[in-house]
Amino acid sequence: MSKAIIIGAGTAGPAVAQLLTQQGWEAPVFEARPSLDPAEGLFLNVAVNGRRVLERLGVVDRLVSDGHPAGLMEMYSGKGRLLAMVPNGPAGKPASGGVVVRRGWLQQVLWESAAKAGVHIHTGRRVVRVDESTRGVRVHFDDGAVEEGDIVIGADGVGSRVRRFIDPEVQAEFTGLIGAGGFARVPDLVPTPGVQRFVFGRRSFFGYLVREDGTVYWFANATASEPPSQDRPADSADVLAQLRALHRDDPDPVPTILRNTVGPVGSYPIFRLPTVPRWWKGRAVALGDAVHATSPSAGQGASLALEDAVSLAAALSHNPDHERAFAAFQADRQQRAEKVVAYAAEIDRQKKTSGNHLAVAFRDLLLPLFLRNATKDTRYDWVFDYHLPAMKHADNQPGGARDQ
Ligand SMILES: Cc1cc2nc3c(=O)[nH]c(=O)nc-3n(C[C@H](O)[C@H](O)[C@H](O)COP(=O)(O)OP(=O)(O)OC[C@H]3O[C@@H](n4cnc5c(N)ncnc54)[C@H](O)[C@@H]3O)c2cc1C
Repeated sequence: MSKAIIIGAGTAGPAVAQLLTQQGWEAPVFEARPSLDPAEGLFLNVAVNGRRVLERLGVVDRLVSDGHPAGLMEMYSGKGRLLAMVPNGPAGKPASGGVVVRRGWLQQVLWESAAKAGVHIHTGRRVVRVDESTRGVRVHFDDGAVEEGDIVIGADGVGSRVRRFIDPEVQAEFTGLIGAGGFARVPDLVPTPGVQRFVFGRRSFFGYLVREDGTVYWFANATASEPPSQDRPADSADVLAQLRALHRDDPDPVPTILRNTVGPVGSYPIFRLPTVPRWWKGRAVALGDAVHATSPSAGQGASLALEDAVSLAAALSHNPDHERAFAAFQADRQQRAEKVVAYAAEIDRQKKTSGNHLAVAFRDLLLPLFLRNATKDTRYDWVFDYHLPAMKHADNQPGGARDQ
């Protein structure tokens, strides 16, 4: 049996591990975090293209059971004027709209599904380095342990160690945005079924939705010239105080949501990888944020990572030679992923005009014109359109084995 060592159990890792295990691989996953924490992370959009993958994994209903369907995005100015309504999915197909889920829930569903398929997820195992021998790969952990396999798959996010092995020159770039967010309970705030709202606040961008049970999911994107030091996590109370100040003049319910926030407020600088020339080297390949980290503005980070998982598993099922499989995977995915990253960067630019009065006035004037027919505009349907490749039957085992 061939062995694929998978680094990272975020979104891409457990998904590719499950698919490979179902193809007859041994596919252990090594995750740096000490345990699954369903409360970790904020929330993210799972678009229809990501849901197709979850369907293939057999978990779409379970995931959606704790999601907030948000097929429509309402955009408001800093004065509370509705600027535009934009579909969060292909135009004119509300049933194919995105679903917002807590990231911790997505992870839990994927972990449980992978475990059921026979995947072992090893937590508290931080990879520091990867190298190759003539017969296989070696993965080195921070406790000095070494794991050997036929191939290594880097699903280890934007700071990927596996990508560092493939091409140490590649550096993620700071988008100029800091993401922050949390959960609130606001008495009497009316639920927003089917909708997520966005406010071009005067000093920072704000998004929120209200679930049927009254829980508010919210995030803010503040502009910054430099990423904050990541030596220690930002203090939750400080972040909330700063956000309350940034959004103090924005229309309600924005300040009210911030006042009624309960629990910790997460904050993280947003990075992107617009283009990574090589996604693989020898017996190592990377996928997901490790090779095409995108800002969350297009709501596609998790969905692209899920698509990658299917593409890579399918390529390995069709190509007995791992290098051919990796090349086929990159050829299948790179152009699409880069296009989505660029699209998200376009949206980021609109968010960053907050604070500049002239630019804000200009945007508030032009956006309704540009997005007048957005609910019927099919120009962006490509974002949600990826044809999932089929797997070759599991009887045909991929090779690339150490003993060849
Ligand atoms: C803690 C966290 C919270 C997030 N919250 C949000 C959010 O609220 N909204 C949003 O849009 N996106 C969020 N993201 C990003 C989002 O999950 C990804 O954009 C997307 O799901 C793509 O997934 P991925 O599997 O490629 O990478 P990720 O989801 O980033 O997963 C990478 C995994 O690899 C692990 N890892 C990293 N380095 C190592 C190492 N050296 N050894 C072993 N394991 C390692 C990480 O702990 C992580 O579990 C978050 C990511 C993380 C890690």
